[in-house]
Amino acid sequence: MTSQPQVLPGHAPDAGSRPQLSFAVPRRGKPPRHLADLTLPERAEVLAELGEPGYRAKQLSTHYFAHLSREAADMTDIPVTSRAQMTDLLLPDLLREHRRLTSDDGATIKTLWTLFDDVKVESVLMAYPGRATLCVSSQAGCGMACPFCATGQQGLTRNLSTGEVIEQVRRSAVMCRDGELAGGQRRLTNVVFMGMGEPLANYKTVIGAVRRMVGPPPEGLGMSARHITVSTVGLVPAIRKLTAEAIPVTLALSLHAPDDELRSELVPINTRWSVAEALDAARAYFDATGRRVSIEYALIKDMNDHAWRADLLATELLERGSGWVHVNPIPLNPTPGSIWTASEKDVEAEFVARLRAAGIPTTVRDTRGSDIAGACGQLAAQE
Ligand code: SAH
Repeated sequence: MTSQPQVLPGHAPDAGSRPQLSFAVPRRGKPPRHLADLTLPERAEVLAELGEPGYRAKQLSTHYFAHLSREAADMTDIPVTSRAQMTDLLLPDLLREHRRLTSDDGATIKTLWTLFDDVKVESVLMAYPGRATLCVSSQAGCGMACPFCATGQQGLTRNLSTGEVIEQVRRSAVMCRDGELAGGQRRLTNVVFMGMGEPLANYKTVIGAVRRMVGPPPEGLGMSARHITVSTVGLVPAIRKLTAEAIPVTLALSLHAPDDELRSELVPINTRWSVAEALDAARAYFDATGRRVSIEYALIKDMNDHAWRADLLATELLERGSGWVHVNPIPLNPTPGSIWTASEKDVEAEFVARLRAAGIPTTVRDTRGSDIAGACGQLAAQE
């Protein structure tokens, strides 16, 4: 530690206008049932109600997960009379494309989707050499109230269903396959739960979506669990639950501060589960899965970017061992109306250098789509 914490006047938004931390899910209608909400045997049960033989679930699921199609016309191995009934029953149209914005010379596509009840969520598809990553939303809005996050300012509208998450993935996989990202046709390889919402506050949907993504076709999309990242504010009991699932997805913990005093301001749930508790749960996740945990740290000018905080962060991480964690500093993507801004580049460099000097692998997250309201939830907020 090189200096004492400072009080930084004028950096917190007006407390009166601040959204409240909340787990309460507003009562709203449920999205229509979808194939992706169900396991393969459950799909067969539903189709049995139509009098369809058991193997139809496999056929329908193959069209959806292997061919990425929900078009009855494509399903030439299924009798015409059955197709419409089956697609009506299990493949409702859950997402309408409301707006699409591209940036980074076509390497980033941000889509604003309208759900069945007119609620809007966004997803962002990003092309990189050798991979394509989709950032998905798991909730419309968010109840976690982090003051620097555009979604956090909206409050929670509702949880998404597994079908609504998987449809974001399927539609994006189609964009990849059809060559809509710069660089031509490719496969969707990575999915990160870093869009709108707190994934672990909608646990059932998210674990269902993970199972559908990693299950081999016709059960699911056959993606690698290692290429899926679940990012959380640090809901400790849910991290433990995820640990027990023994699915080796990558866990990302949004820490943003190494000390409880500041973290409680930036990530209000810290008043319930402290830095120490969140880090202990993250370390246990590594022990159980062997997956190195990512620590996310949005660098906010004069707020959390002090050299002493880099040192304290290193100390907190090393106290729990080495080789289990890496740090992802993220330059703050300023949200409209916020008085906060990204750290100066030399301050960012010093922060990174201190972590690295302590032996902690550290990579600054590249920022994509900042010209298209790239900050999570920003586009939906404009609507
Ligand atoms: N609720 C999850 C997912 C949120 S989005 C979570 O908090 O982890 C993924 C990451 O983006 C989180 O670390 C979040 O804190 C961060 N983030 C949100 N708004 C940001 C902004 N304006 N600039 C930089 N990072 C931001």
